Amino acid sequence: MLDIHKIRADFPILNREVNGHPLVYFDNAATSQKPQQVIDKITEYYTLYNANIHRGVHALSQEATDLFEASREKCRAFFNIPEARQCIFTSGNTHSINAVASGAHVFVKKDDEVIVSAVEHHSNIVPWQMLCERVGAQLKVIPVLDNGKLDMDAYHDLLNDKTAFVVVNHISNALGVTNPVKEIIDAAHEVNAKVLVDGAQSCGHMKVDVQALDVDFYTMAGHKMCGPTGIGLLYGKEDALNELPPYQGGGEMIDQVTFEATTYAGLPHKFEAGTPNIAGGIALGAAVDYLNEVGMENIASYENELLEYGTEQLKKIDGLQIYGDVKEKAAVISFNVAQIHPYDIGTIVDKLGIAVRTGHHCAQPVMDRYQIAGTIRASFAFYNTKEEIDIMVQALQRAVMMLS
Ligand SMILES: *Cc1c(COP(=O)(O)O)cnc(C)c1O
Repeated sequence: MLDIHKIRADFPILNREVNGHPLVYFDNAATSQKPQQVIDKITEYYTLYNANIHRGVHALSQEATDLFEASREKCRAFFNIPEARQCIFTSGNTHSINAVASGAHVFVKKDDEVIVSAVEHHSNIVPWQMLCERVGAQLKVIPVLDNGKLDMDAYHDLLNDKTAFVVVNHISNALGVTNPVKEIIDAAHEVNAKVLVDGAQSCGHMKVDVQALDVDFYTMAGHKMCGPTGIGLLYGKEDALNELPPYQGGGEMIDQVTFEATTYAGLPHKFEAGTPNIAGGIALGAAVDYLNEVGMENIASYENELLEYGTEQLKKIDGLQIYGDVKEKAAVISFNVAQIHPYDIGTIVDKLGIAVRTGHHCAQPVMDRYQIAGTIRASFAFYNTKEEIDIMVQALQRAVMMLS
């Protein structure tokens, strides 16, 4: 279904060598690679129409503004966001979460409860701890089962009339497990709690429809969906965004400013203080175009093929244990081999040109849960191949032989 040779030709970095070997890039959960179309957009902006947006009457400013807003519209359609003003540009997924958490005292009061899951990235834990400390609320945790799935019985037991906010990732970056977010959202709404879903791992790998999910807030990272770093998105329901106070003050986010009082601009500008990452925003639109052209359904089914093949091949390695080996998951495989330290294996396979992530993956509570220091994580994208998986498995076998 995918013309994998054509696709790979669009990603110039895939042609390079690392340590004398062709690069095998399996660290897509940390950041995706960028197609030439996205790289060209960044150059094009600075070469042809670099100007500040939303303020100038001059032609360049108009052109840059039109392209930036066209990109917002592309992102709106991509995630089925009702109105473009509900599609807020941020500097990244972490910024998106903090923009909500920092103003969430309008939703979370003293003695209320905020529920997070045990498989969150630090960026979806710490801002909520800070909120709880600020308002005197309690942080509650949905436990994770041995197989990497959330303990949904425990979740339903945690919900009560004090629950004000539930935050969970769509796909865990540490395990790759896809969480039952629709069930989580519906149950939270039963007790009138708001829900934020961290979509950093889903946004470039599956079709996300924020209206079908009925989620209150959804966050995305541009750099994990073939876009540049320094740009992300925040979606919110209109009422929730109107209630949420602005995250930062400054230019662009105001209506009227006097020394007595300031009134804020409407959406999305209320949350976009200062000059944004204009080039990044425009290039993210090019990334969305690219993903649409390949097709999110094609991407999801091909990546699932890679997941199944990779899982099967890795299991042939003696003593290899996969964390989160369930059916409901993205193309992320987190594993250890016997008692060998993941860092040692990562170092050896890097010498062979293979980029995998080792460590706690910014999710220390997940590692504590399994009583391990870290894992080796291989995460695939639609430009990867089964041949690359074979190369990784051979390299791992070599590393294991050297280390055991
Ligand atoms: C990458 C990631 C984040 C952090 O995103 P940034 O791009 O570093 O801001 C948060 N949550 C998950 C699940 C992630 O994968």
